[in-house]
Amino acid sequence: MVYIALGSNIGNRFALLQEAVFCIGSRIGTILSVSKVYETPAWGFESEAFLNACIKIETEQTALDVLDTLLIIEKELGRDRNLSEGYQARPIDLDMLLFNNEIISHERLQVPHPRMELRQFVLTPLADIAAKTVHPQLKKNIEELQQKCEDNSVLSIWNEPLKF
Ligand code: ADP
Ligand code: MG
Repeated sequence: MVYIALGSNIGNRFALLQEAVFCIGSRIGTILSVSKVYETPAWGFESEAFLNACIKIETEQTALDVLDTLLIIEKELGRDRNLSEGYQARPIDLDMLLFNNEIISHERLQVPHPRMELRQFVLTPLADIAAKTVHPQLKKNIEELQQKCEDNSVLSIWNEPLKF
């Protein structure tokens, strides 16, 4: 079971999340569940609010293969000819949160995703689909991590659900 976090804070944020879900479903594996979508105010004042969601997939691929495909999808969806050159914001961020029960420490990939337990915009959608899943390093389930989390960002539920 692989859990992936999706985030977007520029452009048509919902459409970008939806497109990423479809790309993951066709190139990485079977999508088993999708969280609600949440809107989270950006921490810095310069950017628009984020839309965030998490998905659960089943795949035959290795963690590094999954990562490589996520990076390709990020790049493809990030290509926007209307944006001026040198524009830095990324339309989509795809992070691997958990890969089975594995702890991976590779120069290009750390799983569980470092600092996921500090962020409500990760824990809240993840709790929708994995409340009882145990973090293999912290030995607490997602619901418990959410209760312990000191991030007091206020998330609101986006009224449109992602299809899969
Ligand atoms: P962030 O998501 O923290 O804002 P970036 O998306 O810019 O940062 O970071 C991308 C790099 O992070 C990737 O090139 C990838 O090699 C590395 N990385 C390490 N662990 C993970 C992970 N669990 N999921 C996604 N990327 C990861
Ligand atoms: Mg990332």
